[in-house]
Amino acid sequence: MNKLVPPSAVRCDYADVSGSRPIYLTFDDGPNPFCTPEVLDVLSRHGVPATFFVIGTYATEQPELIRRMIAEGHEVANHTMTHPDLSRCGPAEIRDEVLKASEAIRSVCPQASPRHMRAPYGIWTREVLAMSASAGLTAVHWSVDPRDWSRPGVDEIVNSVLASVRPGAIVLLHDGYPPDEGGLCTEATLRDQTTMALSYLIPALQRRGFVIRPLPQLH
Ligand SMILES: [Zn+2]
Repeated sequence: MNKLVPPSAVRCDYADVSGSRPIYLTFDDGPNPFCTPEVLDVLSRHGVPATFFVIGTYATEQPELIRRMIAEGHEVANHTMTHPDLSRCGPAEIRDEVLKASEAIRSVCPQASPRHMRAPYGIWTREVLAMSASAGLTAVHWSVDPRDWSRPGVDEIVNSVLASVRPGAIVLLHDGYPPDEGGLCTEATLRDQTTMALSYLIPALQRRGFVIRPLPQLH
């Protein structure tokens, strides 16, 4: 196992010194044919942007969802090709996982240009950070994690985000599930709580003066 880098060494927020209150919505582990369209519908209803950290194999299987994300003004970012724990991968495997995911995204949607990368499970190593940097990708972790994937209930997801959100926060949500969760869409893997929570969260955040923005482009 490679030496881990603490998430605090990776970008966890984008605080804005101008005094505005930006926050950033991010979705991992899609695109999923059942969950992603519903998340996109909610975002579209409220006219807010998000960043989707997609799994490369899923992007290949669901090209129309990648194209819809881009057409609706969202960013498609890199969450590796097959979602392994990269701390258990050798250098060639890390390289393949990162580069192939970006290629898969671009091949289904040439307008998509991944600029950010998030390691599966938020497990970072020096090798992963070096690889993403050399691929021109900014490594992005998160600062707010309501653990929506565990289906704690809609109220719990909403309250957990509202209790910990700060200006510049990067919020972690999920519009799919990784391949190692069986590959079958079951009640346990559905993201209906996430979708419902999102429809309450967006107006609640806006009432508190937060502005939902796309992740900044640093290079
Ligand atoms: Zn993931």
